[in-house]
Amino acid sequence: MLATVAALVAVAPPQVLAEPRPFSMIVSGSALTAEEFTARAHRAGLRVVEGRHLVLATDRPPRDGDGLEDLPRVFDGAFEAWCRHYRLASHDHADWRALGCLVVEKSRFQAAGLLPDVIPDFTNGFCANERFWMTDQSNPAYRRHLLLHEGAHAFTLTLRSLATPTWYTEGIAECLATHRLDDGRFVNTPIPRSADDVEQLGRIEHLQKLVRSGRAPTLRDVLNAAPAAHRSIEAYAASWAAVAMLSGHPRYAAGFAAIERGPLDAAFTERLTQIEGWDTAVAARDFAAFLDDLDYGYDLATHAIDWKAAPPLESAAKFAVAAGRGWQHAGVSLTAGRRYSTASGGRSQLGRIGSREIESGPDGISLDWYRGRPIGRLLAAQWVEEPGRQPGFRVLAEGSEAEFAAATDGPVYLRINESPASLADSRGVILVTLSPSPDREAGRGRSR
Ligand SMILES: [Zn+2]
Repeated sequence: MLATVAALVAVAPPQVLAEPRPFSMIVSGSALTAEEFTARAHRAGLRVVEGRHLVLATDRPPRDGDGLEDLPRVFDGAFEAWCRHYRLASHDHADWRALGCLVVEKSRFQAAGLLPDVIPDFTNGFCANERFWMTDQSNPAYRRHLLLHEGAHAFTLTLRSLATPTWYTEGIAECLATHRLDDGRFVNTPIPRSADDVEQLGRIEHLQKLVRSGRAPTLRDVLNAAPAAHRSIEAYAASWAAVAMLSGHPRYAAGFAAIERGPLDAAFTERLTQIEGWDTAVAARDFAAFLDDLDYGYDLATHAIDWKAAPPLESAAKFAVAAGRGWQHAGVSLTAGRRYSTASGGRSQLGRIGSREIESGPDGISLDWYRGRPIGRLLAAQWVEEPGRQPGFRVLAEGSEAEFAAATDGPVYLRINESPASLADSRGVILVTLSPSPDREAGRGRSR
């Protein structure tokens, strides 16, 4: 009935497994047929909901509107999406089933023979091959996410014999679980479109907080994280971010998908660094840039950064900055400390409110703000990496006219301020003239 999995190795020592953490670690569990699982649940008076690919037993009392009856259908939709992700033909695995326990009182499952002693104490969830256990959650969206996270573990462990480093094990479970419901159906959204889709998940907010406090993980930190590090929401968020970036960024998506279809074993991280065109330094910078601008609705293709070197700006030059995109390489470099000025014009259309189109000039409109600045506002920035500081884009100039000193030797980037979720319906172009200031002595320029 089920794909057989050779003995899985516990990924962390027992004292670590007892630590509180959001999701599961993985060890081998005891085999049970779906029929026996269901029979034991019924004998113990547990409620069982069932779909094609999920049997879920719970001691949660039935409550109107808790969405429990919908979970098997959502799970079956997720199963199809997971098969597509790994290019498996779902009809080849029509008999595959995950056996889950949604637990309020652990003792009831122990007495029913559905929670073996070998399963370590878990705070939120735990998966062993096709079986998983999860504590009940008061929020239906978070309960559904946790179910799908453990379900994705069950899927990858059994159908893909997954035994990868922790960043991929947990990161892919998070990516495959993250979804929105479209008319009650599962739609996989590795990067959620809105906070409403993923109530209580908090990954994006945690990462934003880490970036603001200068403590965001580097890609190297994430790829080298020991299983024991996966005790905090930050660690899960970082693993999710790495897998989301690698599977969605135009520079990595094809190579990453190719290695995901190969062996999911301990050498997975090494295989990542062998994908065509891989450059560890560029990947580290792409990851930092992803975290720097991360928000709901972030689209990796729209925000992909061109890091190429560029000739220095020696005389006034004009640039067209497209609305609806992230940071755009201007094609010229600035010299640290030297002063420059911008003068801009043009209109961008930032979408509609009702029937009215929102239009903006380079100063932006005060109708709506994003990250402390009016939307529609022209921004000029450089990517700054300094020891002891979070790498990121530093905004040097904004609005229709500005004068500024370059922060570093390197390209200048331009964009129109807007939240990632709002970019898709934006159009138009702001024209910018960028000039070296006549007075090139740092600190003597006029600022507006
Ligand atoms: Zn997990």
